[in-house]
Amino acid sequence: EAEVALVGRSNVGKSTLMRELTGHSFDTGGKPGVTRSPNHYDWSAENFVLTDLPGFGFMSGVEEDHREQIKTDIVRYLEEYADKILVAVLVVDGKSVVDIIDRHTGPDSIPYDVEMFHFLQDLGVPTVVAVNKMDKVDDRDERLDDLAERLGLYPPWKQWQETIAPISAKRGQLEPLYEAVRTHLHEQERDDLF
Ligand code: GDP
Repeated sequence: EAEVALVGRSNVGKSTLMRELTGHSFDTGGKPGVTRSPNHYDWSAENFVLTDLPGFGFMSGVEEDHREQIKTDIVRYLEEYADKILVAVLVVDGKSVVDIIDRHTGPDSIPYDVEMFHFLQDLGVPTVVAVNKMDKVDDRDERLDDLAERLGLYPPWKQWQETIAPISAKRGQLEPLYEAVRTHLHEQERDDLF
């Protein structure tokens, strides 16, 4: 069955988004790092399975080696199912993602979101970056241009609307995400025809 996989650091609003997409309730604001294994749900509006991968990143009370294990598990899952995953949705927090990327960029370090984005591209999995919490962002276009640039996508971000989808899960404003996902699905249907 066709699969859409959600990945993202903890606290970006992945549970809130999952709830909006599926109509199920999820343990939002719960203990980070608790979702250990991939969970599968029906995406009510569409005819495919949504896979929620564990949140990754700083989690208070979670040991470093456990964090690394979660990261390894996510990478293994994506590698194993790359052929079945129609679209990956990388969820980020629009309010903080650029600062976090800049803080973690160094001679020997690649920020998680950037690394994950490139990893998914290397796997050949079409990826949509769902930039969540846009209700908290004032300088919208500037922020999204900065993010595009950090991901190696030449600004303006509006050229990349099949890749960058500004949303507010909390407010149920998800249309750009639906649009972007649909674009990829249609591209693949076309590819399947020829
Ligand atoms: P997860 O750890 O990624 O599953 O994140 P949660 O879904 O638990 O959300 C973390 C926090 O962000 C919660 O306090 C949510 O209410 C809040 N949140 C989620 N989506 C949005 C959004 O679109 N806008 C705002 N302002 N807050 C959000």
